[in-house]
Amino acid sequence: MRALTVVPRQAHSLEVTDVDDVEPGPDELLVDAVAVGVCGTDREIATGDYGWAPPGRDRLVIGHESLGEVRYAPDGSDFAAGDLVVGVVRRPDPVPCGACAHGQFDMCRNGRYTERGIKQIDGYASERWTVETQYAVRLDRGLRDVGVLMEPTTVVAKAWDQVQRVGERAWFEPRTALVTGAGPIGLLAALLGVQRGLEVHVLDRVTDGPKPQLVADLDATYHHDGLEDAVAAAQPDIVIEATGVGALVFGAIAATASFGITCLTGVSPAGRRLTIDAGQLNRELVLENDAVVGSVNANLDHYRAAADALARADHDWLARLVTRRVPLERYAEAFERRDDDVKVVLTFDGGAP
Ligand SMILES: [Zn+2]
Ligand SMILES: [Zn+2]
Repeated sequence: MRALTVVPRQAHSLEVTDVDDVEPGPDELLVDAVAVGVCGTDREIATGDYGWAPPGRDRLVIGHESLGEVRYAPDGSDFAAGDLVVGVVRRPDPVPCGACAHGQFDMCRNGRYTERGIKQIDGYASERWTVETQYAVRLDRGLRDVGVLMEPTTVVAKAWDQVQRVGERAWFEPRTALVTGAGPIGLLAALLGVQRGLEVHVLDRVTDGPKPQLVADLDATYHHDGLEDAVAAAQPDIVIEATGVGALVFGAIAATASFGITCLTGVSPAGRRLTIDAGQLNRELVLENDAVVGSVNANLDHYRAAADALARADHDWLARLVTRRVPLERYAEAFERRDDDVKVVLTFDGGAP
């Protein structure tokens, strides 16, 4: 069968190759791929900056934002042929650390976790894939054309879960949230904020393309005149930072109201320097009881929360987040960045929506 594979840490090695057919183990589903989302992590792997091949192999099947249709499910499992499913990205480390032992592999302490399509386990960008039943999550069949948004939605479901947990250390009735960045993570974070009943503001740089209207259609407020303007309008109790841009990260931390919570979800390259007034930042954090929390990945609770959030969302709005659908053989186009892209996905023959 065909798969999109890469030699990790080797630029220009991404290509569609023939790989062995997969056979499901006793507790595994065999799944026909429908679509795979492409994100910044995939682009970093494609440029040779990230990723690990499975032990003893050169090539890794890429793809962690999965969506597929069950071809075969073992008897007695909760799944049946035809079910729409997403495979979880991360697996617990083999030790396991305390967090992994408690099902919180998203919080792994020793870094020895593995990840489908990223770290030592083949991903989901192959025509068929297998997944352990306990790491498969079923989606409403009506989400066939948008279910590929599940994995980025799990990331923001975790971010909101973190905000809630940090907030509950004292009286917590937040009113407003500011999301910095209107990419897939930012827009999905805004969606979940609106679903929580918050007044949501979103900051990005662009003034055209689909982003301003996508924000407006959530009944959220779009800002493009910089952080100061957005903060003045939003006076946010919560900031979800989804750009990883240093100036925005520190600006966001300083921007929150008293008892403000900033959740950082954007990964930035190392080596970018910024001059900050450390004394002022410290004063603000202390005197306002502010909290800053980093958040990455997601566990099964967040997958379930994300499935609920997608099922509750306006279907047409979700469909507009997928701005390009590219067939597997034209993968190179999917890895190009274009103006007006929100989420680009690879599609598979077996899985035309
Ligand atoms: Zn991703
Ligand atoms: Zn662990």
